[in-house]
Amino acid sequence: MKLLCDQMLGTLAKWLRILGFDTFYAPNEMTDDALLEIAKKEKRILITRDKELIIRAKKQLIPTVEMQETDLIEQIRKVTKEHEIDENKFLSRCSVCNTELHSISKNMVNGKVPPKVFETKDNFWYCPTCNRYYWMGSHYDDMIKRIKMISSG
Ligand SMILES: [Zn+2]
Repeated sequence: MKLLCDQMLGTLAKWLRILGFDTFYAPNEMTDDALLEIAKKEKRILITRDKELIIRAKKQLIPTVEMQETDLIEQIRKVTKEHEIDENKFLSRCSVCNTELHSISKNMVNGKVPPKVFETKDNFWYCPTCNRYYWMGSHYDDMIKRIKMISSG
């Protein structure tokens, strides 16, 4: 399943990527026409709050999720209601650029992440496109707990 979040849904796009979903996030300057074109060409499900955009997408047979929810957890629940979350895919994509992350060994991040992180974490990931290092920080842990709660009940 590939997704496309419009300009209003940046936080949701970031978390969908962290959960492993291939998610295109529309840049600010992108027109609705261009956005629909990408959804169609790349077979992405359009996620938006914009009712007019939903109507236009439906006319072009682009699948849509109309987002009325404002709470992030509720938004994730809505997107994943029909598409199960696969825990094996968590942290498999860069939250900034959507590239698939590489798992890298601890000794390769020495000096490249904060010392405290290096001391306390054992699993690291790397984005080859934007040169970022990832690990499961406390913000991540809290969020995953909340997401697991919604997906189990
Ligand atoms: Zn990246």
